[in-house]
Amino acid sequence: MGYIDQILEAVKAINSGEGEFLQAVGEVLESLRPVIEGNEALYKKEAILEQLVEPDRLVSFKVPWVDDSGNVQVNRGYRAQFNNAIGPYKGGLRFRENVTASIIKFLGFEQIFKNALTGLPIGGGKGGSDFDPKGKSDREVMAFCKSFMMELYRHIGADIDVPAGDIGVGAREIGYLYGAYKRLTHESVGILTGKGLSYGGSLTRKEATGYGLLYFTQVMLLANGHQMAGKSAVISGSGNVAIYAAEKAMSLGAVVIAMSDSGGYIHDPSGIDLDAVKEIKEVRRGRLYEYLETHPKAVYATGKSIWHVPCDIALPCATQNELDLEDAKTLVLNGVLAVAEGANMPTTMEAVHFLQSQGVLYAPGKASNAGGVAVSALEMSQNSQRLSWSFEEVDQRLSGIMAGIFKKAEAAAIKYGQPGDYLLGANIAAFERVVEAMLAQGV
Ligand code: NDP
Repeated sequence: MGYIDQILEAVKAINSGEGEFLQAVGEVLESLRPVIEGNEALYKKEAILEQLVEPDRLVSFKVPWVDDSGNVQVNRGYRAQFNNAIGPYKGGLRFRENVTASIIKFLGFEQIFKNALTGLPIGGGKGGSDFDPKGKSDREVMAFCKSFMMELYRHIGADIDVPAGDIGVGAREIGYLYGAYKRLTHESVGILTGKGLSYGGSLTRKEATGYGLLYFTQVMLLANGHQMAGKSAVISGSGNVAIYAAEKAMSLGAVVIAMSDSGGYIHDPSGIDLDAVKEIKEVRRGRLYEYLETHPKAVYATGKSIWHVPCDIALPCATQNELDLEDAKTLVLNGVLAVAEGANMPTTMEAVHFLQSQGVLYAPGKASNAGGVAVSALEMSQNSQRLSWSFEEVDQRLSGIMAGIFKKAEAAAIKYGQPGDYLLGANIAAFERVVEAMLAQGV
């Protein structure tokens, strides 16, 4: 049995039941075959894969808090510090009821490669809790965040591990977490990113993942002889990533015709009114069906995948495994040109293989959604310098970083004989950078 297969077996044996983590490891290792098989003796001797698939540490902790009825609630918190070969651990916090160690480990593992692709000095980590802020009062969210930080603060630091937001963790949650950290440590440092602009946040951070996704998609389209202008786009989700993906898609001339939340999707063939979506989601924290109150001609659909809406460009920006093989077949039947991931691992492996086999341009999330963490790293730089850069300056750097990531993925895919396979290219380019740092630092 070859080295990769040995490791896949071993990872399965000691992480049984962790479906998402095994899926992420399987996808990455499979695509690394050409580079690993070319250097197998060295990587095996140094146990590079064994080291990569095991987090440096996984902290799991109790988070007790009191709800508005005076009842004590108990949730579970996590922080996976996966690999810091190229810099402090960096990666978001996810608050959602389905969060498990498997989900945190899959996200932390992916984050190693994503962060390496940015070219910035950040290692991979991820955290979160099975607490869902949806439907909770501000006071309840604050109580939870304060209790969560009572434990997390022991494990993080501006040069150790710098968390950010993810699903369920936006500006409000980051604010409460930051306030708690400061009271616990007496330190006013860049310990979290995605902070509010009045206390150390970076301009463009809110927009970064969505904008970055569109910068990447645009470069990918151009490299393959297509334009963004005039294309129809379907975007799943209506959270931070989806909203700013829609904003940038529109400004680049695409028409966004559908968006979703976990209840269903809205289809507005003349183009989604993004101000209305922002009002519902960012201001009122409401549900997407409310869009129909002001846009009666739009359709709201439930119980059916958003990928049934015909489009040129599909941008999954909600959650993992939200686009499966059936969805991929439907998209192809409807003539999709590109699928670019804003979310982490939204497309199942079978769906990815099918899309690629049909000549659909496919942008893997670890490359195309790296804009968020890239601007987070720029926020860390600004905090260290005690400076704030302008929106234009950060946006320009973001656009340059995304174009750079595309070039790295494209070049590695060509070098390993698979031109146009940006998944293989992204994984290999990232792996080479991380491994070089790991080898240099020794066991
Ligand atoms: P948000 O919490 O802001 O938004 C998530 C959106 O996805 C919501 O509209 C939510 O609907 C929807 N959603 C969640 N689960 C499901 C589901 N099972 N089915 C359908 N819709 C669902 O999160 P973000 O926008 O920050 O994150 C979205 C994705 O992007 C995640 O995969 C995240 O890991 C990834 N990502 C985020 C980055 C960031 O900077 N924020 C950076 C890189 C990647 P509802 O309101 O009903 O819950």
